[in-house]
Formats: sequence, structure tokens, C-alpha cells
Amino acid sequence: MSQQPASRDVKPAEGRGASRAKVSRSHFATRCVHAGQSPEPVTGAITTPLFQTSTYVQQGLGRHTGYEYARLQNPTREATEANIADLEAGNHGIAFASGMAAIECLVKAVAAGGHIVSEENTYGGTTRMFTQVLDRLGIGVTLVDCRNVAAVREAMRPETGLIHLETPSNPLMRITDIGAVARVARDHDAVLCVDNTFASPYNQQPLAMGADVVVHSTTKYLNGHSDVLGGILVLDDDALADEIRFVRKSTGPIPGPMDSWLTLRGTRTLHVRMERHNENGMRIAEFLEAHPMVRTVHYPGLASHPQHQLAATQMTGFSGMLSAEVEESDAKRLAEGTRIFRLAESLGGVESMICVPSVMTHASVPEDARLRMGITGGLVRLSAGIEDWRDLVEDLDRGLRR
Ligand SMILES: *Cc1c(COP(=O)(O)O)cnc(C)c1O
Repeated sequence: MSQQPASRDVKPAEGRGASRAKVSRSHFATRCVHAGQSPEPVTGAITTPLFQTSTYVQQGLGRHTGYEYARLQNPTREATEANIADLEAGNHGIAFASGMAAIECLVKAVAAGGHIVSEENTYGGTTRMFTQVLDRLGIGVTLVDCRNVAAVREAMRPETGLIHLETPSNPLMRITDIGAVARVARDHDAVLCVDNTFASPYNQQPLAMGADVVVHSTTKYLNGHSDVLGGILVLDDDALADEIRFVRKSTGPIPGPMDSWLTLRGTRTLHVRMERHNENGMRIAEFLEAHPMVRTVHYPGLASHPQHQLAATQMTGFSGMLSAEVEESDAKRLAEGTRIFRLAESLGGVESMICVPSVMTHASVPEDARLRMGITGGLVRLSAGIEDWRDLVEDLDRGLRR
């Protein structure tokens, strides 16, 4: 391991064409802790300061530090962006007030007036934006089961600007072959975006497999402590990064300094947390698979997952997200009966969470589409936290047998 962890200056961002983070060669854990950060120059503070300011005083007309106004530049935000860009091995990190704001900004940058091909089984809010909001801007969308790459190719039109994937998908843990879809995108001159929220960069690196852009809801694993909403786009292409930054500065969906600071506090322990999320996810999946009251378990780490082989080639670990099919009445009893697993939307925090997607996260997806995909009233989604797995398994068993 390199003795010199990534340390880079927080270079002033010029709004259109801001700082470019170089990917360091240290190992992942070292990059989590150090990437994007260097001691604060005035005091030597080891922690990136919280620049809670809206504007910056200028020395004279046309003479300033590179920092002018906080919608354009903020050093705390830039440190967080550089850190996460490094973890995804991308040149540019561009942060947003939420995951949805990140996806919307990408759409405005690449698909205005055009067409999007999207995985049908995404985060409910993504499908809702694609089908109920973007049509107002004249943007069409075709939803596809992207496990079938031929179907993705068939859905492409001359005006398709964006392919949006989510793998593993929410909540069915479907896996899409990122490299194969990247070839479709290249053939059609479209941008491929992969929502890497469920896997986290610890387990999956979509840019290395041919994706053009990675999006995260940093609300989830990256921040990891259930106390911030945020999003980020990570990409290599300079011109596209310029375009996205231009749209962001012109429309304003930036994260605040405090949220950026908390997110950076979170990413510094990502590797340690993910190791435990991965272990707990696997333990719970194995427990549920053997449980007499459980019909099916959706977890890409299980050999019984129909795409386990593909998952194993794309992912180095399988995260703490899984779903399980039980009787509908059991689903309600389980979701309301656990003590450690909290009944809540959201995921990826240190605390375990349980939800019933059909009436919670995916309530906005039309019922026929939900049922066709398998998001039934008996489907329960679990986010395994970082508690002791023995307590989590006992909690689920108690909830099921209640
Ligand atoms: C939560 C989530 C989003 C939306 O992010 P917000 O931060 O809630 O706006 C997008 N994609 C996935 C996979 C998510 O889990």
C-alpha cells in the first residue's frame, strides 16, 4: 500500500468547468479516509472545515480566490465530491441536494426533448419522475426489463439520450449486465447511467464496466447514518461534466454545506460499514432461505439467485439489501412486529430497516406493473444494518412466528 494516501488541494471551482479530482492509487480503505481532503491551510485542522457561508468577499473587481457564491463553489462540498469521485474511480464528482435532483439534472443535461430507456424495476421515485414529470418537458421514456439486453436494444430510438440502469434493482434485486448495456449505449451514442446506490462503490464499480455516469442517493450507504439527504453524479467525461455543472449552477439543486460535511464524515467509514452490511445481508438471506414461512429470497449473493453468476462477476460483495416473499398477512405482521428492524422507508443506514414496498416505497408504481414484476403485498424489503447478525436473525424469526 502506498505510504502517501491521496491528498489533493481543494482547487477553486470555476463554476463551469470545476475542479477535477485525480483518482489515487491507494487501496479503497485508504481512499475512503483520505481522498479529497488535505489539512486546512490556516490552522492545519485535520478535518475538512464546514464552510457555512453563502458568499465570499472579493479583493477587488475581478480579483477573488476562485470562490464567489455558494451555489457555484463551496470547499466542503468540493471535498465530498472529490472523495466520492475517487471511490467510484471517476474524474468528476458533482453533488446534489438529493438522489432525485442528481438524476433530474443528468436528464436535463443529456436528454432534453428526447427519450430515455430505463430499467422498469427502479427506485419508485425514479419511475415516478420518468413517467409522471418528464413528459411535461417533452421527454419520453420506455421502461424495460433490462435483464434482457436485446429488449434494451429494441427500445432504443434515434433520439434516445440516456439509458438508466439500477443494478441490483429495488426491491427485486434483479441484476443487469452493465458491460452488455454499455455496448448498446455506445452503438446508439447514448449516455449510460448506473444507479449504484444499492451496491455502493465498495461492492461495484460501474465506470470500470463501461458506464458513462454513476448516480448515488448518498442518503443511503455513502452517508450511512440516516441523517442527510443527498445525491451525486460521478463521471469521467470533461465535456459532459461541464454541461452537468452548468445545469446545476443554473438551476440550483445543490446540497448545503452541513449535509456535505456529514456525508464526508460518512464516507470515511464506508469500507468498514460495508464489510458488516455484506456479512449481515448474507447471514440474513441464508436464514430466510431456510425458514419455513418464507417462499422466496431475493439476494444476489445466494447461489439460488437466478443471476448469481452475473452478480458475482460484477460485484465483489452483495451489500445489505434483500427482499423476501411471504404470505401477505405474514408480511404485515413481520413488518409491524420486529423490534430491531425499524419499519421505515430508506435504507443503507447503520440501523436495520424493514418495509413493504407495495404500500410504501413503490406505492406510486401502477398496480398492474407492480404485480407483473413481482412486487406483491407479501414482498418484504430488508436493509441489514451493522448490528450483530444473531440479534437480527432472532428479531426476524420472532416477527415471523408472532
Ligand atoms: C433513495 C434512492 C433514490 C432517491 O434518492 P433521494 O436521495 O431519496 O432523492 C434513487 N435511487 C435509489 C436506488 C434509491 O434507493
